[in-house]
Amino acid sequence: MKIKKKLPWSLLLFFSSCCIISAQELFVRDGYCSYSAETESNGDIYTFSSDEEANKAVERILKYTGLKKNFTIKAANVNNAEASIMGNTRYILYNQDFMLRVKKVTHTDWAAISIMAHEIGHHLQGHTLLNGGSRPNIELEADKYSGFILQKMGATLEQAKAAILSIASEQGSDTHPGKTARVAAITNGWIEARDLTSPPDTDKTPDTDPVHQPADTSSRLPSTPTPAVFYVSRCVFANDPTAYYVTNTNIIITINQFGQVAVVGQKLPPTFPNFAWMYQTAYTTYGVAPNGFIFGSYPNGTLMQVGYVTNP
Ligand SMILES: [Zn+2]
Repeated sequence: MKIKKKLPWSLLLFFSSCCIISAQELFVRDGYCSYSAETESNGDIYTFSSDEEANKAVERILKYTGLKKNFTIKAANVNNAEASIMGNTRYILYNQDFMLRVKKVTHTDWAAISIMAHEIGHHLQGHTLLNGGSRPNIELEADKYSGFILQKMGATLEQAKAAILSIASEQGSDTHPGKTARVAAITNGWIEARDLTSPPDTDKTPDTDPVHQPADTSSRLPSTPTPAVFYVSRCVFANDPTAYYVTNTNIIITINQFGQVAVVGQKLPPTFPNFAWMYQTAYTTYGVAPNGFIFGSYPNGTLMQVGYVTNP
């Protein structure tokens, strides 16, 4: 015999009010990389809905990457900001008070954007899937990525470095390098992005010392008309609807639905014998085989096909 039980109204009200009050959720990390070295363990971590400013910053960054968002953003009682993973879901957690302090000290919105770009860099490079969390070498990769992306977004080098200059300690730790190394990584990424987008200098010989290039942007404009840039092949990645194009100048770009072009990387000569060329971005390098197959590698070195190129 089936007995249909009814919950008393008082109990229903209790459950529904619980759901409204308990907007915070206990978060158990399976792996994470933070922005700067931890001080004390802060016990249980709870996440809260993220604020509009953080969401907008992330959306802006992603526009310039040409990549899909593969994480959820949450405010949390973490020490600063971190890229985390729980189960199969990726997160960016940030401490709202920390972000407000950074903004107050640096007097620029670019500081918070660079922190978010650093965390996005961790996810895009698969750092949270590695055992052990933050380590100096992967922190520098994420810093370089933030410098690269901020240049593409229009930040000056000073704006790209603002957060790290105000937060990083001079001394390195087991998890994070010292300030000078982190500033150098951001600068390196920023310059790499600037050079990718600079107009080609037709007078430049390949072995010209870059130190002697004029610093003034106007004087870098070529005196003769810029040769036409056109696309020679298209790159398609599994589970990524974005199309990437390789130009005759060996730059890899993406074009969004509004026709805006973003530089995502460059085509480089092969550094491994079985590849025709390397597809390099600020955060990863793929190998392209002579048949057009694009290969990525797992941290253990195993190769896996991730896409293909037309007209390899
Ligand atoms: Zn980090």
